Amino acid sequence: MGTSIDVVGAAVDRARPAATWWGGLGYKERRVHLLAWKRHIARRIDELAALIAAETGKSPDDAALEVMLAVEHLDWAARNAGKVLGRRKVPSGMLAANHAATLEYLPLGVVGVIGPWNYPVYTPLGSVSYALAAGNAVVFKPSEHTPETGAWLATAWIEAVPEAPVLQAVLGDGSVGAALVWSGVDKIAFTGSAATARKVMATCAETLTPLVVEGGGKDAMIVAADADLDAAARAAAFGGFGNAGQTCAGVERVYVEKSVFNTFVDKVSALAVGEFTMTTPEQPAIVRAHVEDALLRGGKAVVGGAESIKSGNVAPVILTDVPEDSIAVTEETFGPTLVINPVDSVAEAIKRTNHSKYGLAASIFTRNAGAAMDTARKLRAGAASINAVLGFASVPSLPFGGVGDSGFGRIHGADGLREFSRAQSVTRQRFNPPMDLVRLDRDPHTMARALKLFRMRHGR
Ligand code: NAD
Repeated sequence: MGTSIDVVGAAVDRARPAATWWGGLGYKERRVHLLAWKRHIARRIDELAALIAAETGKSPDDAALEVMLAVEHLDWAARNAGKVLGRRKVPSGMLAANHAATLEYLPLGVVGVIGPWNYPVYTPLGSVSYALAAGNAVVFKPSEHTPETGAWLATAWIEAVPEAPVLQAVLGDGSVGAALVWSGVDKIAFTGSAATARKVMATCAETLTPLVVEGGGKDAMIVAADADLDAAARAAAFGGFGNAGQTCAGVERVYVEKSVFNTFVDKVSALAVGEFTMTTPEQPAIVRAHVEDALLRGGKAVVGGAESIKSGNVAPVILTDVPEDSIAVTEETFGPTLVINPVDSVAEAIKRTNHSKYGLAASIFTRNAGAAMDTARKLRAGAASINAVLGFASVPSLPFGGVGDSGFGRIHGADGLREFSRAQSVTRQRFNPPMDLVRLDRDPHTMARALKLFRMRHGR
């Protein structure tokens, strides 16, 4: 632990003057540098994708798609930070009509970013890009399963912006993450499991370090009877089995209206092909335990079974009619499994979707656009995608984040930029007030006039 503390402390010490330089540049100059880093990443996408593929086991194409998404976010954050955060006038209201009021979102200083392994570029850059664009320096602790990818991003920064180590990577396991949380940085952006988030939050409570948590999910897809079932099945297969199911906002549960249940299950089953690599040696045992629990409690395996989940390579599993209290329904599985359960109505699907400690995202399939929006608003989830999966993840102007065990705070979009800023409010008195109430020798007549005006304005 001593070494972790030293390494992290040295990185944070280097980050402090870098943050001062970076924060002092202003939005336009920061944009120039951020876009230089972006181009550096975009031009070397093959190299970075190969590294991600080697470290995670995902295909180079999936890795390249991940980088493409991350770069879109970086570009948006760089181009929009000034507009979202820059100084602006706001109305000063009746009592302060003699003041000019301005609002600006200023950098926090140094932000510590702790990342997971499943999307080792897209996920941490959801915090890193927005924190940098908001004018902060970042010390980034990538997952111990993807250290090279994390180091690559920091090296790319120094190659593109040699002036200062505004982005640094500190490598190692959870002890390095813990040291970063203790280090006195001005905010922690944590992405990972709820169990680790609890530890991080306990430490943040000690030092009053603000925290944003991007946690796991148990995302549901709702399929209404009028849905395009082919599209829904394709989306369920991609959202459930893609990246071996190791996607925080992937599909883990599907609730299908009874009249189309069998057809839907047949269609998804036809798509449940191939083998996937799981990234960590521990994960297959967790996935297997979920499948076994579902089967033990009366669920049916219509594709694969516990034997599909070997160590390393895994094959898709589709389970149906799984009791809602099985851990295959209540806990994040993070494997290539889908639980598909029939429901009487969309209302029942909403109820079951919301009956979860998680609330990251959801997807809805129906041809009725109005009903879909209505359903989305009733979901206890940070995001919803209609007639597609993960649509929100590729829209940089949309905030991303969950509720409950899925976390709090937001990355991406204007909210994501503000997450890494502090609002500063400034008023400037332009002329003496006609009714001066902020003085010790307040005139009773002035107070009476003010009260009269107040009652006219608010009491009628
Ligand atoms: P994890 O919680 O095991 O680890 C996450 C990070 O925390 C790692 O870098 C790890 O080294 C570090 N860490 C471990 N102990 C720590 C401690 N005591 N203090 C500080 N840091 C510590 O999660 P994981 O297995 O790497 O990632 C998978 C999880 O992440 C899943 O639950 C997944 O759903 C979630 N996830 C969420 C999002 C999102 O945006 N909401 C995105 C991707 C992944």
